[in-house]
Amino acid sequence: MNAPFSAKLPAAARAECSPSQPLRQRGQHEVFCGLTSIIWLHRKMQDAFFLIVGSRTCAHLMQSAAGVMIFAEPRFATAVIEERDLAGMADVHDELDKVVARLLERRPDIRLLVLVGSCPSEVIKLDLSKAAERQGRLHGPAVRFLHYSGSGIETTFTQGEDNFLAALVKDLPAEPAGAGPSLIVAGALADVVEDQFRRIFDGLGIGPVTFLPPRESTALPHAGPNTLLLLAQPFLGETAKALEGRGVRHLQAPFPLGEEGTTAWLKAAADAFEVDAGRFAAITGPGRSRARLAVERSRATLQGKRIFFFPDSQLEPSMARFLHREAGMEIVEIGTPFLHRHHLAAEFELLPDTVFVSEGQDVDRQLDRCREARPDLVVCGMGLANPLEAEGIATKWSIELVFTPVQGYEQAGDLAELFVRPFDRRERLRGIA
Ligand code: SF4
Repeated sequence: MNAPFSAKLPAAARAECSPSQPLRQRGQHEVFCGLTSIIWLHRKMQDAFFLIVGSRTCAHLMQSAAGVMIFAEPRFATAVIEERDLAGMADVHDELDKVVARLLERRPDIRLLVLVGSCPSEVIKLDLSKAAERQGRLHGPAVRFLHYSGSGIETTFTQGEDNFLAALVKDLPAEPAGAGPSLIVAGALADVVEDQFRRIFDGLGIGPVTFLPPRESTALPHAGPNTLLLLAQPFLGETAKALEGRGVRHLQAPFPLGEEGTTAWLKAAADAFEVDAGRFAAITGPGRSRARLAVERSRATLQGKRIFFFPDSQLEPSMARFLHREAGMEIVEIGTPFLHRHHLAAEFELLPDTVFVSEGQDVDRQLDRCREARPDLVVCGMGLANPLEAEGIATKWSIELVFTPVQGYEQAGDLAELFVRPFDRRERLRGIA
């Protein structure tokens, strides 16, 4: 069991900073905006296009964030809205009309065009839902239009995905009358991971199963009271709410990270579909053994090391659970931008009651706590990594954990390995010095 880390906090506050009573912080924060999620979303849906309605800053952010990852023609772009007053808003619509018409002419394969809002005041003045409706009238029904906000004022990078999926849920067809149980797995997963899960669900006899977002925008799952939901990512609060609003039943489970998380996640679906225990053990057994063996290789490096999470991706509690229980790491602090108690309840059941949890961010206070604790590894956003490295603290970029396929049995070894790398790098640097 870990003692909660308590520097800089009065005793009364210390006692309260547990999973049930996290330290709530409302200060300066350093997190990427929701536009960043387009970098993985645009690769997921083959016939969708994300049109950011934004400024030159947004265009630059996307260019530099995606720069190394663009392999072919990307399925996103920025319509740059220049500064103008309210009287000029009619021109904004005209401009958007032109951009969309040009885009659809050049890319006739687009079936779903997503207008993504950003923070410049000109964009805030624009009613994106009206703009999407207008484009729908001009270009439908061959192309569908959706809109959501990726603005840095309202969203962090994983909330961008949440907003997109929640918008998509509004378009899901209703469950046909008399439909049997079906399962939606929500949260963008790498295709390879999705295929592995699909094979396991098939082996268990669970189906029909659809993944949200689907690879094609025309393959949307139906939603209704016989639809069950498994969240593949912990940051999908709005998506879950929207699905529950359609009558869908959410299956509570830890998230599919590591052998234990993946098994519990699959078990939640297996129980709902009344899969017998023998079949469950037979289908999951080989994957479980492979995952345990793969993580074991990293355990020698990670065991006993102390880790500190700054709030960034909302994956922090699930990562902490995996690293603590499967790799033997000690948790100094789990910082998370939002703590969705209901969705994370199954994770915290697997963590010590005393684990120190903070919600929100006050970067200066958190840096003070981190420096005083001198953890062996810090998981944080890119902005904090360099200064901490310069102070001799090893870091891991949290955004990497969202970009990399880490879910499921076959990725458990890679997931542990991601946390070994900063230690290896330090060893190598020491060797050079
Ligand atoms: Fe654009 Fe706002 Fe994101 Fe900056 S923070 S890139 S202005 S959406």
